[in-house]
Amino acid sequence: MKKLIYILLLVLLLNSCNKITLNPFNELIKDYPHNPDKLYEYENIYNESSNIIYAINKVNYPLFLTPKSYKFLAFRSNNIFFVNTNFSLNKTFIPQSLIEINNVDYIKRTNQTMLIDKETLSAYTKLFNASLLDNIQLTVFSAYRSYEYQESLYNKEDNTFVAAPGTSEHQTGTALDISNINTGLTIHFDKTKESLWLQNNAYKYGFIQRYPKGKEHITGYPYESWHYRYVGVKIAKIIFEQNLTLEEYFYQYIII
Ligand SMILES: [Zn+2]
Repeated sequence: MKKLIYILLLVLLLNSCNKITLNPFNELIKDYPHNPDKLYEYENIYNESSNIIYAINKVNYPLFLTPKSYKFLAFRSNNIFFVNTNFSLNKTFIPQSLIEINNVDYIKRTNQTMLIDKETLSAYTKLFNASLLDNIQLTVFSAYRSYEYQESLYNKEDNTFVAAPGTSEHQTGTALDISNINTGLTIHFDKTKESLWLQNNAYKYGFIQRYPKGKEHITGYPYESWHYRYVGVKIAKIIFEQNLTLEEYFYQYIII
């Protein structure tokens, strides 16, 4: 009987040793959606980075968050566009979902219709109505901007806050410049009660502050208190609660 117990203990011990020596990659990869033909490639990058999500995204999207001096095409995942200084939209890209903005406060310009992505407007309308209940008065200063319009802004003298054509999220129709009517798109918006309200509530309606303070080195853009981007409630909540940028979100979550 004693012998049997010793043998059992020995088997258990060997088993646990076996588990410890297993390559963690093989265990981790099981939990994530991946292409079995690319296992070797995933493992190579995992061994360098120790980050399984990064490894999967990097193999599936070879240009994933690679800082380069030249531009890559923007990509779409989880139904959201990834656009920044490295990932740009084509000159010819015009979203099919654009509609005229209505039912919210916005700046009316002569001979110019403000256009916005349909789903973004629906989410923003909810945000706008909630802000009114809190005595907050928000105005949309800019929504969709075409490649050509962005180009004309970029070519003006003072273009500190203007993204190069193709690298602006405004071309997707899902980015909004929001401020109060008196402050406009200036650095002073940051300190207003409207800005504070947006910082604390926008995520509940699917919006994120896209270029936050202190993360300029990650987003590649200076802090813009007025620039909000629609990404949907689920992703916005994660980004808000974990204090991420969209770049960091893609680094930490699998892109399908
Ligand atoms: Zn903007």
